[in-house]
This record gives sequence, C-alpha cells and structure tokens, in this order.
Amino acid sequence: MQQTALAGATVFFPSPNVKMENAEQVVMTVKGPIQPGEMYFTLTHEHVLADFIGADNYSKERYNADEVYTIALPFLQEVKNKGCSTFIDCAPAYLGRDAKLLQRLSNATGLNIITNTGFYGAVGEKFLPRFVYHQTAEQIAEIWIKEWKDGIDGTDIKPGFIKTSVDKDPLSPTLRKIIDTAAITHLETGLTIGVHTGNGDAAKEQLEILKARGVSPQARIWIHAQNEKDNQYHIEAAKKGSWVSFDGVNPNTISENLAYLQTMKKENLLDHVLVSQDSGWYHVGEPKGGDYKNYTCIFNQLIPALQQNGFTKKEIDQIFITNPASAFTVRVRKL
Ligand SMILES: [Zn+2]
Repeated sequence: MQQTALAGATVFFPSPNVKMENAEQVVMTVKGPIQPGEMYFTLTHEHVLADFIGADNYSKERYNADEVYTIALPFLQEVKNKGCSTFIDCAPAYLGRDAKLLQRLSNATGLNIITNTGFYGAVGEKFLPRFVYHQTAEQIAEIWIKEWKDGIDGTDIKPGFIKTSVDKDPLSPTLRKIIDTAAITHLETGLTIGVHTGNGDAAKEQLEILKARGVSPQARIWIHAQNEKDNQYHIEAAKKGSWVSFDGVNPNTISENLAYLQTMKKENLLDHVLVSQDSGWYHVGEPKGGDYKNYTCIFNQLIPALQQNGFTKKEIDQIFITNPASAFTVRVRKL
C-alpha cells in the first residue's frame, strides 16, 4: 500500500506486496469470486440501503432502485478515489439487501462489493420473517445455503458472508436458533459468520452455540464490538480466534477507536481486528433517502490519528488489507 498526501487527506493505493496464503481460496463478490489478495483496502461494514419497516411489510416496491443508485453512486466513487477497493454491504434480507443494486454499483465504480445471506434478529426480532418461528435451524439453513449455491432473490449473485444479529444476553430461543442456523450454514458453505451483537456476554454466548456445532471462533466476526466498552471482552474473544470489529468510526469516535486499537496492539492482537464506519445509507421512507453519510472518515481522520500515534504502515495494512482478506476468505473453520 502506497500512501500519498493529497490536499491534507490520505489516499491509499493497493500495493502488490500484500500476499495471501492459500491463493486457491476465494472471496465472493456480487460479480463473482476474486482472490483474497485482490481485495486490498477494505471497508468491512458499511451500508447502501436500509428500510426499517420490518419483515412483515418489507418489499422492494417501497423504493426506487434507480434513485438509490443515483444517490449512492457519488459516495461510492468518492471512497474508491480515496483508495478503497472492496466495500462490504451489511444490509441483510428484510432490511435493505438488494444484490442487483449492489452489482450495478460495483460495475459503475469498479469497487468489489460483497453482500450477505442470513437474518437479522436484534431490535425485538422485527426484521425476522414469521416462518423463522416454526422452522428448525436446519430448515432455515437450507434457505441460506441455497442462496450460496444458486444466488439471491432470483439472481445469480451469491453472498460473501452470513450476516445475523442478536441483542444483549441472554439470547432468546429464536436468536439462539439464528446463531445455530449460521453454524450449520458455515459448515456447509465456508461463509464467515458476522453477528451484530448487543454486548460482550452475548458475544460469548454465540461462541458457545458455534462450539456445540464444532465451528471455530475464527469463523465469527463480532460486529459492533464497540457496544461493549470493557476491553477484556475484546481481548478474550480475539485470543480465542474471533474477529473483533470496531465498526462505528465517525468524527465523534476517533479517540475511542484509537484507544481500542492501541489496546489491541499492546496485546499483540491487531491481527484479529476489523475497523469500519457503519456509514451510508439511503433510508427508505425519507425524501431522497434522507441524510446519506459519506464513507471517508477512516481515510481523513482515523488513519492520520493512527499514524500520529505510532501505528506503522504495516500495522495499518494489517487492519485494512490483510485482516479483511483473511476474515472473508470462504473456507470451513472447525474447532
Ligand atoms: Zn450496520
């Protein structure tokens, strides 16, 4: 990764120096498989579109995909110009996942874009389709595995990871079932399991459910780890092999994120960290999608702060290039 100062901001360009092991393994984008070493600078948790209406009333009829495309495009072009190569969209089914729209945006920008399979259980389970309550984990997993094999929503676009979500501990029986479904799907597909998580104990509970199926913590991304302020939970999860995702970077959280990363560096655990912004998005139901937030804070503020605080180029490459490539490489990870 080369680095050039431009107009007070930092721009990153991919360098061919970052090599991945196991070159035969792939990462799945909305345009098909790529090599992990082709991901380069990656934002691991962002959004293009969100609709919070809930699963019962969810429909693609509720928005105009052309309008979303037009509004999202300049924000994606802007971050591509900053040096981002891969953009991971974390909107799950029934909450704004639109694989075709993401593919169009990937074609237009040249960004690698990754979408997901899975269901989102947090927020009172309002984004879960009703059938989840009377199906087994094995039955629900069939739906997710079919998306991996055949494509999403009638397209041939495949998911690049599993996105689920749970609230704080203890998890409800339905939320435990969702994590169990993720474990079954992982063993069949090799897709990494990203779990939006309410607190540190809920993060631990997930690992127990995965363990019961023989799935390694290495297959789990603890999304929104910043919801847990006690660093000991982050350290413990990373020591077990889990990915710990600090994905709420914005202008108000630079010092908080810097502190998390300094702690992980001190513990020699930077190789288990992911960092992103949870930014975007076109908000369905608001005029023109409301207040779309850009994706540049990591480039303009966090990376300069890391550099000023002694993080080396190698460490920054680790966080934004090496770790995402490893985390999202499709492969089964058993205990
Ligand atoms: Zn998110």
